[in-house]
Amino acid sequence: MSESSYQVRSYKVKHNYDVKGFLEAYRWLLQRAIDKIWKNITWNERVIKNRRRLIPIIPKSNEFKRNLRNYLLGDWNFCAHYVDSAIKQAYSILKSWRRNYLKGRRARAKPVVKKKFVRVKETLYSYRDGRIKISIRPFEEHLVFDISKAWFWSRTKGEMGELILNEKFLTITFRFKQKTQNSKGVIVWDCNERSLDGFNPEIGWVRVDLRKLFHIHRVYELKRQRLQSKASRKQSLRRVLEKYSRRERNRVRDFIHKMTTMIAEAFRGYVHGFEDLNKEKMFRKSRNHNRNIAKSDWRTIIGLMSYKSRVRLLNPYNSTRRCSRCGMVNAPKGALYECKKCGLKIDRQLNACVNLYLQVEGLSPSPKLFVGLVKRWGGFTLTGGEADAGSNEPVRSFKAHEPQRLSMDQYLSILSLEP
Ligand SMILES: [Zn+2]
Repeated sequence: MSESSYQVRSYKVKHNYDVKGFLEAYRWLLQRAIDKIWKNITWNERVIKNRRRLIPIIPKSNEFKRNLRNYLLGDWNFCAHYVDSAIKQAYSILKSWRRNYLKGRRARAKPVVKKKFVRVKETLYSYRDGRIKISIRPFEEHLVFDISKAWFWSRTKGEMGELILNEKFLTITFRFKQKTQNSKGVIVWDCNERSLDGFNPEIGWVRVDLRKLFHIHRVYELKRQRLQSKASRKQSLRRVLEKYSRRERNRVRDFIHKMTTMIAEAFRGYVHGFEDLNKEKMFRKSRNHNRNIAKSDWRTIIGLMSYKSRVRLLNPYNSTRRCSRCGMVNAPKGALYECKKCGLKIDRQLNACVNLYLQVEGLSPSPKLFVGLVKRWGGFTLTGGEADAGSNEPVRSFKAHEPQRLSMDQYLSILSLEP
């Protein structure tokens, strides 16, 4: 999703094949591949920063791989190429585990495959006249998907890539070269439960109201609580809960769809910068339910924005904690960010945005730079309150634009007025 010259798009098609058995067999195959490699890992003891650590060495020799393949083929009844896929996938899972383990993010525990899906590489299916054919068992069983009538058919461009098959859907990816275009600049975005905050020195501070989104989640949370308090474990209860989840998801997605379209239209030509969720920080494996919701909403926002405009992922490290004026790292509490060193008082999200913007430009915070970034603004203080002579806010000389506290509807009406 970065400014690379390739972009990948994926589309889902629902299917009616019963592939449960196949997917379960594949999951087991993949797990056995992981088990076997795991068993053969050698652990080298090393002392790092006065701590003894075990460094895993994953076996990679061709001989090992050949034996692994034969072992897995032993009781595999489907096409042999799935064994090769499973081996590749097992290695990539273990490599990613190793990377995270060395950074202290994972325990020394064997990865377990839970999700049931199969990745089908480009070379392992055939495609002709709008029909995709995937072999399951050699010469006898295959799945055919006619996608020539799918809604996305006319929109797709580029070459078809990997397929992902699960119980209900086939996901088809397309890879295509992206046109490089000059951008007007970068708007960086920070998200919390109540608002999406954007910043660019020319535009100022943009605030998109997310209370409606918050409200949707709240409504369904209450609905679920009411149901669960009846303490019944009937099948019907589960179905109702599932129905609620589905509706909640649909309403959320609908909202985010409209919102991202609006943002992409309103700031056409800009590159949109978002924190890279994979470089977790913002929502570090949180048990907090609301945070996890915000995280999944944030993912959806980034995903949909990347369809509608150019998106650049940014490193979230310290963006909420560093002072965007002097660079001091503080531990902010609440909505107002206060710097212990230089005394800056600023809206917490705006501070994060300015930091992300500095990252985009490859700059470090400095008071001089900060003045430059905010000098065109007037009327409102950095904390979002209206300028007031009686306030003892120390940075009165810097005034931020009125954050545009607009609801979706207001935004949409503005857009329709402007050609
Ligand atoms: Zn400071």
